[in-house]
Amino acid sequence: MTQTPKNIAIIGSGLVGSLLAIYLRKLGHQITVYDRRPDIRNVEFSGRSINLAMSNRGWTALREVGIENEVKKIAIPLDKRAIHVEGQPEYYQKYGKEGEAIWSISRGILNRRMIDLAEEAGVVFRFEEKVWDVNLPEGKIYTGATEKGKWKEYLYDIVFGCDGAFSRVRHKMQRRSRFNYVQEFIDVGYKELTIPANEDGTHKLDKHSFHIWPRGKFMFIAMPNMDGSFTCTLFLPFEGEVSFEKINTKEEAKSFFNTYFPDVAPVIEDLSTDFFNNPTSALVTIKCYPWTYWDKVALVGDSAHAIVPFYGQGMNAGFEDIYALNKIIAKYGDDWEQIFSTYQTERKPNADAIAELSYRNFVEMSSMTADPNFILQKKIEKR
Ligand code: FAD
Repeated sequence: MTQTPKNIAIIGSGLVGSLLAIYLRKLGHQITVYDRRPDIRNVEFSGRSINLAMSNRGWTALREVGIENEVKKIAIPLDKRAIHVEGQPEYYQKYGKEGEAIWSISRGILNRRMIDLAEEAGVVFRFEEKVWDVNLPEGKIYTGATEKGKWKEYLYDIVFGCDGAFSRVRHKMQRRSRFNYVQEFIDVGYKELTIPANEDGTHKLDKHSFHIWPRGKFMFIAMPNMDGSFTCTLFLPFEGEVSFEKINTKEEAKSFFNTYFPDVAPVIEDLSTDFFNNPTSALVTIKCYPWTYWDKVALVGDSAHAIVPFYGQGMNAGFEDIYALNKIIAKYGDDWEQIFSTYQTERKPNADAIAELSYRNFVEMSSMTADPNFILQKKIEKR
């Protein structure tokens, strides 16, 4: 079913906002994307940033708009987990039988590519323009340099909030009666570290594995980058006997790695410096409902459902929101009220399910993978 072209604002040029922009542009709508940050294509991050695992859900959404192969050029397939148990040789757990894989991809590089593709499709981006407020029934957004300063006002037919876990658009919806909202931080935090490439540019560990060092209440993981390096993440409780609060000096950081990760400690780049330069970040689950306001405003991606990363499905679930929304649009055409109401009732149970699975998968990754007899029961959707 074709749609009457609308003037649409998307708040957030992250992975979800930029993919949604491509989808809606292909349907013939006029799309402007606002982001409070500078254009990521002009920001130095040396090609390394958080790595994401893209699974079938994500690829399906990219395939639908013809960009799957373009994105696969910047991703590395991982067909197995490589498990590093203390005092034992590394062993592997295959994700599937026929070379099935999840794919390692740099968030920053992917985001740059998606913005390029959206621009090529005719999407307009307005960077360094933060949205402070939204008039929900009228579809007006207010942007400005500071909260107290002078704001600009823009009027749109429809506004999508793709502005992440701490969404400003959702914040406005939260003030309405009968809006449900819950957020829960877990007591485990994370820190990013790097294993650099060998001098000849090759990887120091198996390139096609998702590496896990399971240690019960904590774990270390590594995912390959195209440049031969690995982006690593230490997941560790904030407090307790073995925790971030106990690591306060360079010596303590080195001793922690030598004790629990002796095989990897020597190859982490600038371990003791990076440990203190890189932030320790928190992990949150956010649930809310409704996700839409009349036929005017809808939340998509982390703004509607932020989840902990242990299933590697946050972005994938956001991409699936868009894929599902597109199918619903095809069914209901110009009836945006019906589109939004179907979208939220269809997607909410899925989002709640993946939130729960993600939470539970910490136990599988950090403990159960250490058992060589443990067999992956569910196939390749998870890390
Ligand atoms: P975001 O990426 O948060 O983007 C929001 C955008 O909105 C940003 O560009 C921000 O600048 C902009 N913005 C915010 N507020 C405003 C405002 N007021 N005005 C204008 N712009 C605004 N997912 C996976 O699928 N696989 C994985 O392996 C995986 N690993 C992860 C590992 C970690 C450690 C973490 C923390 C997350 C991981 N995720 C993973 C989850 C994934 O990163 C998120 O689900 C995904 O980035 C959400 O995309 P988004 O576009 O909805 O939000």
